[in-house]
Amino acid sequence: MYVSRPAPELFPARIGNDALADAGSIEVFDAVVIGGGPAGSAAAFTLASGGASVCLIDKSDFPRDKLCGGGVTGRGRSVFESVFGRSWDGRLFLPSADIEFRSNGRLIGGATDQTGVFLTMRRDFDEYLLGLARAAGATLMLKTRIARVDLAHGALTPGDGAEIRFRHLVGADGVNSMVAKALCGAAFLPTTIGFGLEVEVPRDHLPEQGDRLEIDFSAASWGYGWVFPKHRTHTIGVAGIHARNPDMKARLADYLALKNLDAANYRVKGQYIPFGDYRRRPGRDNVLLAGDAAGFADPITGEGIAFAMQSGAAAGRAILDSLASPGVVPADRYFSEISGLTRGFRDARFWRWLIYPAPVHGLFTRAFSRAGVLQRGYLDILAGRREYDALPGLFARQAGRALKRLARL
Ligand SMILES: Cc1cc2nc3c(=O)[nH]c(=O)nc-3n(C[C@H](O)[C@H](O)[C@H](O)COP(=O)(O)OP(=O)(O)OC[C@H]3O[C@@H](n4cnc5c(N)ncnc54)[C@H](O)[C@@H]3O)c2cc1C
Repeated sequence: MYVSRPAPELFPARIGNDALADAGSIEVFDAVVIGGGPAGSAAAFTLASGGASVCLIDKSDFPRDKLCGGGVTGRGRSVFESVFGRSWDGRLFLPSADIEFRSNGRLIGGATDQTGVFLTMRRDFDEYLLGLARAAGATLMLKTRIARVDLAHGALTPGDGAEIRFRHLVGADGVNSMVAKALCGAAFLPTTIGFGLEVEVPRDHLPEQGDRLEIDFSAASWGYGWVFPKHRTHTIGVAGIHARNPDMKARLADYLALKNLDAANYRVKGQYIPFGDYRRRPGRDNVLLAGDAAGFADPITGEGIAFAMQSGAAAGRAILDSLASPGVVPADRYFSEISGLTRGFRDARFWRWLIYPAPVHGLFTRAFSRAGVLQRGYLDILAGRREYDALPGLFARQAGRALKRLARL
């Protein structure tokens, strides 16, 4: 019988070495979660809160850096509140009210009311989430890189240390997931995967930017560039489908040059991002993939934090259900829990053909600059206030307005 444990403290202590489990003492857990990002912490929190014994393993010590714009949407905030059962610690975020849309630096739209995007440093946010999982009762094994995943025997082999056994496994180990490799032969498809580059620019290097967000639709092919303000820096980056941007470093340098910044002055970091490369059935039997390991990043905006928490928690719930009712197959329960999420990715993969291909991209940016309804719609999707299934209605409204204008001529 799995019973809920008492609610964890509101502000868990910072993660320290006291949280490290001794690898030699590890036996069989109800569930092992690999990865301490938003997906892994949500899974471990859900499992531990539901009374399961859970061990979360991460190769890094925390706090650790994670390459990311750190833009958490209104959707992310709602997911956080429903998964972790509380309001988040507002000190972790810079709310940004203003946004500008650009194409090759040229202003094509924007909004000065609430964008619904909250900017954070992943170093702090991920440590906070991991602290919540730990306070709920999850055992943490940090600085432990899993080198081998043996699905047939339910065993994980760290680079050093004793074998770890699991009854259920959540692969929340990011875009280069070992668990996805063990399950599917490869973590991602090189032809469809996205790639992003970023620099952290001290705020006084870009004083006119203030707390304003920026999206530049032409800074990368099949992707975009961004300026995301943080408390101490501006995160500036470009991302797009990797195969369509062989010159991504030059793209970033060009984007920085539009702002009179020299790429040579900053430390450029890069990472793959699933960006539409999602798995329809992310798992098998008692092994589930969540977050980037399942490819759960929005195919148009690249948003991944909200979907990582959402899928991690869904994986945790599916395992709890199967622990309580042994007839339940965790993967089947998980696939049905996340069907709405994958439907959204499928819709977005369709809509991006109207935004990103070279022949329509110019048309899109021109139409976007004149179409208040589309700008609002994009912003609402970016902020998580609308889903992609609202787009046909928005297009119809915009077309109706254009027809009325024509009729007046
Ligand atoms: C340049 C860029 C900008 C982005 N900007 C945004 C944004 O602004 N907003 C947004 O919502 N999303 C953004 N994303 C996407 C977002 O970063 C990811 O979708 C999100 O981090 C996924 O979370 P996760 O928990 O699945 O994986 P991760 O956050 O990657 O966590 C995976 C964890 O697994 C651990 N791990 C990996 N392998 C092993 C192993 N073998 N053994 C042990 N531990 C292991 C890692 O140390 C890591 O802590 C961006 C991505 C990129 C690349």
